[in-house]
Amino acid sequence: SKVPPITLNNGVEMPQLGFGVWQVPDDEAERAVATALEAGYRSIDTAAIYGNEEGTGRAIAASGIPREELFVTTKLWNSDQGYDATLRAFDASLEKLGLEFVDLYLIHWPLPAKGQFVDTYKAFEKLYADGRARAIGVSNFLPEHLERLIEATSVIPAVNQIELHPHLQQHAVREYHAEQGIATEAWSPLGQGKGLLEVPAIVAIAQKHGRTPAQVVLRWHIQTGNVVIPKSVTPSRIQENIDVFGFSLDAEDIAAISALNEDRRLGPDPATFDVA
Ligand code: NAD
Repeated sequence: SKVPPITLNNGVEMPQLGFGVWQVPDDEAERAVATALEAGYRSIDTAAIYGNEEGTGRAIAASGIPREELFVTTKLWNSDQGYDATLRAFDASLEKLGLEFVDLYLIHWPLPAKGQFVDTYKAFEKLYADGRARAIGVSNFLPEHLERLIEATSVIPAVNQIELHPHLQQHAVREYHAEQGIATEAWSPLGQGKGLLEVPAIVAIAQKHGRTPAQVVLRWHIQTGNVVIPKSVTPSRIQENIDVFGFSLDAEDIAAISALNEDRRLGPDPATFDVA
């Protein structure tokens, strides 16, 4: 494969770069995922709430790629938290994807005020024990939520998928992950393609290497140890975003990008986000 794997805390290998499909309508997702699989992506990141598990599943089936070469992630939506509801929601996701198992199942948001993420995760542990999810984890968990979860359950999450890009570098969360053996997966790794890709320091590094700003940002993630799941529906960008394993940033580049941290979120604060 074009993309090297990282090894999760249960021994399962996950490609360090995958393809995200948030905000891509179902029929378009089928096309985009097909393009990504042709370009060499083997990891796909979807979620029940994205409404494109079916299109994603159709593209996977049509690709003819052996199941064991793929790494499929989906996520449990907020309104389905709780033990029994989680088991039902998981069945529905698998059905839509047309798969017999997923590689990674994530709790999409902690919803701390609802107080259900421990029960939800106990259902995840059952799905893991039954072999229907090869790895289980969470998304948007703050260290305080991870602490509570780890105290009350027995399988340490394999992954925490969080908003992470040069303007929000998440040092404290990454440090906690390292202590616990949790892989850090970056969502909106390109900062949603907004101002970040025009930041002069990033443009200058891109010129220096004969690469694009998006490739420089993705390369920064790879060298920082993050799993990344950039999204695009444009074939040339889908190609460009996976073509980040043929060059390296030097220490000076890394330092310049590390200096861009502003602790600034584009998305909601996990401590208060409670949309069902
Ligand atoms: P992203 O940072 O991947 O940015 C995507 C946008 O950047 C594209 O829509 C496009 O406008 C632009 N772009 C992409 N490639 C480019 C290129 N090569 N050159 C110039 N511009 C380019 O943002 P995202 O979609 O928010 O995040 C990626 C994935 O993370 C999502 O698709 C989803 O799978 C996941 N995600 C998860 C959560 C969560 O709560 N767990 C939240 C948001 C996103």
